Amino acid sequence: MNRTNEPPGPRRSANVVGAGIAGLAAALALRRTGWCVTVHERAAALAPLGAGLVLWPNAVHALDALGVGAAVREQAAMLDGSTLRRPDGRWLARNDDPGLAARHGAPLLGIERSSLQAILAAAVGPDVVRFGSEVRDSEALTTGHDMVVAADGIRSRVRAAGWRGHAQPAYAGYTVWRAVVAAEAVTPAVSETWGHRERFGMVPVGSGRVYLFATATVGAQQHAEDPAGELNDLRSRFGRWHDPIPALLDALEPDAVMRHDVHALPRVPRQLHRGTTVLIGDAAHAMEPNLGQGACLALEDAVVLAHVLGDDVPVDHALARYSKARRERVAAVSRLSAQIGRLTQDGGPVRASIRDTAVRLIPARLTKRGMDRTSGWKPPSRPSPER
Ligand SMILES: Cc1cc2nc3c(=O)[nH]c(=O)nc-3n(C[C@H](O)[C@H](O)[C@H](O)COP(=O)(O)OP(=O)(O)OC[C@H]3O[C@@H](n4cnc5c(N)ncnc54)[C@H](O)[C@@H]3O)c2cc1C
Repeated sequence: MNRTNEPPGPRRSANVVGAGIAGLAAALALRRTGWCVTVHERAAALAPLGAGLVLWPNAVHALDALGVGAAVREQAAMLDGSTLRRPDGRWLARNDDPGLAARHGAPLLGIERSSLQAILAAAVGPDVVRFGSEVRDSEALTTGHDMVVAADGIRSRVRAAGWRGHAQPAYAGYTVWRAVVAAEAVTPAVSETWGHRERFGMVPVGSGRVYLFATATVGAQQHAEDPAGELNDLRSRFGRWHDPIPALLDALEPDAVMRHDVHALPRVPRQLHRGTTVLIGDAAHAMEPNLGQGACLALEDAVVLAHVLGDDVPVDHALARYSKARRERVAAVSRLSAQIGRLTQDGGPVRASIRDTAVRLIPARLTKRGMDRTSGWKPPSRPSPER
């Protein structure tokens, strides 16, 4: 029985597709408000991806609202802000900002992706995630349930079925390598170095480990034949950049390096819901990773979703409120992230040098204000009832 038009009861039920950060966060948020949740995950287990995540204050507020903020803070590294350099080490911007946490009421954190996923999965509880459960027909999931939450990532099958004609993810024109390595103290910040169509980044993620990422503008699918080839490519591109980049690359084992071509949705769907099906996380707003906000926004999505469903309205009405509350924000962050992609990955060396001069001239307070706008989100004020 589909109870869409009934007022909310204590045990409404949802099928969530995907156990990534979005799906786990949504499952947790819904369970905390009394929903009965099943998460369908096609993988056989949560795969520990060797990468890190930057969690901006907006994400930490969302994690607090989900009841796991303390566990995340315990495992993460506390960061002071962000810095920007040139490959020769000269500074372009130092936005280290000890006041950031006080201003936002929440810190900026670096964490291993697998740690965040494990914390969310433990909080969701046992027997909620069905592994090896690939959803082929999301329509079938609506039968007997009040809601389907599509958290099935950038290539969402639910989006493809329900949002026919919506633009497919497109190659952003650059590739990204990621790795986590044990390393001596590295500046407690999101440290990026911008070259010409190449970038290198370092983020401490706790327990003496550092998350590394690097980008290069290349044609799609020009990957090396094996991990050793990828590491050689990384070393030849970045091995002569400023310290400590060469030492960090020297410390890497080939198997620690992951490479993906960056894809993003050209635009966010106009509506993030259809009836009682709702898109969250990358299924809704897969964006270029240049602001480190994709997972942060997925956590926000989960909190807002549970919030709107807490009101005494039918599910489809609540999801219309979710769409309205989320669409503009996620579309704006997606656009900004794509702009940074163009600024850093397109154009020739002359344009890169003009860009560097412009970045150096931007007053720190303006950069700070821009960052505050993106990461200044707070959860809706009415607290979600505890489970
Ligand atoms: C290089 C890079 C760096 C990034 N850095 C950051 C950062 O620092 N901070 C940040 O906030 N964000 C960052 N992001 C973005 C972030 O990784 C994503 O936004 C986030 O992981 C999306 O989570 P998700 O759960 O929506 O999707 P996914 O992680 O893709 O999860 C989708 C899940 O659904 C499952 N699934 C798919 N189809 C089906 C199906 N049919 N049936 C069942 N299961 C299915 C998949 O197996 C998967 O487990 C980065 C992204 C990249 C590429």
